[in-house]
Formats: sequence, C-alpha cells, structure tokens
Amino acid sequence: MIPAHATPAWIGLGANLGERAAALRAALAAIAALPGTRVLRVSSLYRSAPVGAGGPDYLNAVAEIATTLAPQALLEGLQAIEQAAGRERPYRNAPRTLDLDILLFGDAPIETPTLTAPHPRLHERAFVLLPLAEIAPQHVAAEALQAVAWQHIERLDAAW
Ligand code: ADP
Ligand code: MG
Repeated sequence: MIPAHATPAWIGLGANLGERAAALRAALAAIAALPGTRVLRVSSLYRSAPVGAGGPDYLNAVAEIATTLAPQALLEGLQAIEQAAGRERPYRNAPRTLDLDILLFGDAPIETPTLTAPHPRLHERAFVLLPLAEIAPQHVAAEALQAVAWQHIERLDAAW
C-alpha cells in the first residue's frame, strides 16, 4: 500500500562494468527495500554506448517509484546502494558498476548543492529518455526524443 503522501519519482539505472544485468537487478531490489519506498514500474533493459568516456557498453533502465523519503534522503539511499555495489569515482564519467540518478522527483523543481531535479542532463541522453518514455510517456516530449535520435541505443528483448 502506498501512503497518500508518497511522492512519485523516476530513477535512472546504469552499469557498464562487471555483471551489468545482475547489478541492475540487485539495485532494483535494494531500491524497493529503501524505507517508505515502492517500485511501481520498470522499463525494459537498454544497451547504449558510453557518452563522454570509453569503456564497455552500458545497460540502462528507468524505474518509477513512490517514496515517502525526502529528496536528499532518497539521494543518500541511492548513493549507499551504489557504494555497496562497489562504485568508485576515479574521474568524471568513469566506467561504473552502478549509477543511480534521480531523473524526476515530484512536480516541483529541486535545486540544492547536492541535488538537481529534474536531472540536468535528462534531455541530452537517449539512454534515459527512451526507457523513461516507455514507462512515463507523459514526461517525454517527442521533440526531446528526436533530438537524441542519433545516439546509439538498443532496447533488449531479454527479460530482466
Ligand atoms: P553522474 O551520474 O553525473 O555521472 P555521479 O553519479 O558521480 O555522476 O554524481 C555526481 C553528483 O551528482 C552526486 O554526488 C550528486 O550529489 C549530484 N547530483 C545532482 N543532481 C543529481 C540527481 N538528480 N541524481 C543523482 N545525483 C545528482
Ligand atoms: Mg550518478
């Protein structure tokens, strides 16, 4: 049961090192285990080429959640899940075992030193926009999809 004061939010998941699909599956389970948080809907898995860095292809997905956590508490919960998955940050856009980004949180924009929502690069990235459009088309304009149509991304038929 989802409490009436829960906020809808969309989380972008990505991994390009190690057992990528397993990492995303474990991340979903960990998100669902955050206090006051339910996973409502999950996109297909997508495969995308890294942007702004080398390394193996990414697996990406987007999950819709409802949470009673405050935005900063959600961010900290997601960062703890990244840490537990062995995430290191040696340099910007480095390959990662797990990246969890808050794409959208509720209706009002958030701008703090640690959190910007909607995510500032949401509209630049096909690997976010395509899975988001799959489960939340109301949040993705056709123009936004057209603008990233040149990026290499593939929806996988494989089940989670
Ligand atoms: P990126 O995801 O941009 O490749 P990181 O995962 O290392 O890079 O995140 C860097 C910082 O971005 C985090 O420490 C976090 O405070 C900040 N940040 C700002 N807005 C968001 C957001 N919407 N979701 C996740 N992190 C965010
Ligand atoms: Mg991130």
